[in-house]
Amino acid sequence: MLTVDSVTKHFSEKKVLQDITFQVDKGTCVGIIGPNGSGKSTLLKIISGLLTPTSGEVKCNHKNILHLKQKTIAKKMAVLSQDGLPSSPISVFDTVLMGRYPHIKWYQRERAHDIEKVQDVLNLTGISHLQNQLLDTLSGGEKQRVAIAKAMVQEPQILLLDEPTTYLDIGHQLNILELVNHWQKETGLTVIMVLHDLNLAAQYSDELILLNQGVIEEIGTNEEVIQKDILERVYETVPEIVMHPKNHVPQILLTSR
Ligand code: ADP
Ligand code: MG
Repeated sequence: MLTVDSVTKHFSEKKVLQDITFQVDKGTCVGIIGPNGSGKSTLLKIISGLLTPTSGEVKCNHKNILHLKQKTIAKKMAVLSQDGLPSSPISVFDTVLMGRYPHIKWYQRERAHDIEKVQDVLNLTGISHLQNQLLDTLSGGEKQRVAIAKAMVQEPQILLLDEPTTYLDIGHQLNILELVNHWQKETGLTVIMVLHDLNLAAQYSDELILLNQGVIEEIGTNEEVIQKDILERVYETVPEIVMHPKNHVPQILLTSR
């Protein structure tokens, strides 16, 4: 479904990504982890066609993403950037409705079908009571739900998320990831998400990619990537790995050296 083939990215002299190759199958959730500055956001921007790689290519259903029109990409992919939604005095309803634009022709206004879709998704994401509230008056957790709702009405095949749980408390972090997880399971959505929390990444991803200084350090299942020696090498810390008592996913406990 999605192929990243020998992608390299340089910003003038600076080599930010080098020879990144992997494939993502339809319906899977891939977690991208790695230290700050390892190139995660840059990789996500290249996958979404926002940045052009220095060499290599990203293909979606065998087509180079850079050869597709913006609107065609928007029908295939929804992106939640690291910056989140801008703080503007626009209502929640209108913000989510914007997610329908890839499906509305330039000479059309939104149709009854689009309005229904927005209402369904507002209910599904538990924010219908906020629909008339302005975006710049929402809490962080509410705003992230609006961002997910906007992506949902876009009806993409692929969802790209860049650190969607930053600044949220643990309850709201789980809330957002559960929402994405249900959506993935219900519709066969393909998810690529950057998460800085390794424990959450291990719990919600089918596969993990560990980036370090612009290269893929490890790629594989949670057990293959969440290993003491690998994390010690990459993060220069001494983690203890334990199995989660409930779902037997590897989890990390931090200790000082
Ligand atoms: P991460 O998301 O893993 O923290 P980024 O992809 O944001 O990392 O950044 C990786 C490296 O690329 C950083 O050193 C950053 O300074 C650099 N970088 C990112 N964007 C640009 C840019 N537009 N111009 C120059 N350097 C950039
Ligand atoms: Mg980043």
